[in-house]
Amino acid sequence: MSWNTIIGQQQQIRVLKKALKTGRFAHAYLFTGHEGSGKESIAFEIAAMLNCRHVTSISEGSCGTCPDCRQIQAFMHPNVEYVFPVESALLEVSDTAKKENKRFTDAKARYEALIEQKKQNPYFSPAMERSMGILTEQIIALQHKAMFMPNEGSKKIFIISQAERLHPSAANKLLKLLEEPPAHVLFILISSRPETLLPTIRSRCQVVQFSRVTAQELRLWLQLNRPEIIDPELSFIVSFSRGNLSVAWEMLNNRSDNPDETAIILLRNQALDYLRNMLTPSRFHEAINACEQHAKNLSRSELTLFLAALLLFFQDANHRQINPDVQELNNPDLNDAVNRFAKNFSHTDFLQISIITENAIRALERNANQLLIMAAFTVEMKALLQQKA
Ligand SMILES: [Zn+2]
Repeated sequence: MSWNTIIGQQQQIRVLKKALKTGRFAHAYLFTGHEGSGKESIAFEIAAMLNCRHVTSISEGSCGTCPDCRQIQAFMHPNVEYVFPVESALLEVSDTAKKENKRFTDAKARYEALIEQKKQNPYFSPAMERSMGILTEQIIALQHKAMFMPNEGSKKIFIISQAERLHPSAANKLLKLLEEPPAHVLFILISSRPETLLPTIRSRCQVVQFSRVTAQELRLWLQLNRPEIIDPELSFIVSFSRGNLSVAWEMLNNRSDNPDETAIILLRNQALDYLRNMLTPSRFHEAINACEQHAKNLSRSELTLFLAALLLFFQDANHRQINPDVQELNNPDLNDAVNRFAKNFSHTDFLQISIITENAIRALERNANQLLIMAAFTVEMKALLQQKA
């Protein structure tokens, strides 16, 4: 880690560093702000700094390579507890029978898969699908762990992800801990919906509000740290993630290093071919076939990118229409195509098209049937594009 790896949030980091330097660090924090703004990665950096053996100054942060830093990165450090919503099957403890308990072993495998995903993507917020929230047993486990002192000079850090999902009785247990906090424990609660937390919990935490990472910040960071990513892919990642670093990270993890076969750009080009065919009467059949094939063959996340590519292209056309001189496009390599499209569809309601595209993306996220989504989307979009003023 170290502070340099963090994208944006410079002002918030300054405040936290100052509190650390002057010994005014609170015993409990509530980090709030949009999903994917990096709240958890900053919590983990603080945890690393308070346990790292090689910290030379608070300004620089953790070393990232010592045994403590490595253990924290592996979610194995005895002083750092990471809590998120899990299934109750994971907490069923009937010790001796545990190994034979299939429900438990299955739940454990799902839990470990999420931790693996979190290691790959530090901005990802894990939650088990069948979870009822953060459960009372999880907070009781924290109470037990709080009783043991860490090694001299270090602290125990309890990071509670998605704190708004604390089960009511778990929230009450946590409140007790916060009311009489052991001096060697630092609580960091994370929530993008802090208004749904118990007010009594909120009032015991120092709130730090994180801002949405701007396109400029993400672009700059990528240019410095991932110089192999260039336009049009760079612009696409920045535009598509809309300040959500978790989304940006998924795209970075799935990219190919060969610029000619960047999966993202291939998908975008497929999406634009599909749009072109759909608008060419003699090729309409091809478009319908493609629609069916994509719905069947693309994964849910690929299909999301496919639709997102159309959304970003419509946005470009819309911006060009409103301001013909606009320079910053989502697709800087498609300047001419954007111009032609904006001109040919000068009466199109691009706002409405954006809305139906976003709705289709949301339906995909809700696990609706891919073929039905694509079919309905195609019909609606074609009707909107063919509308005359
Ligand atoms: Zn270290």
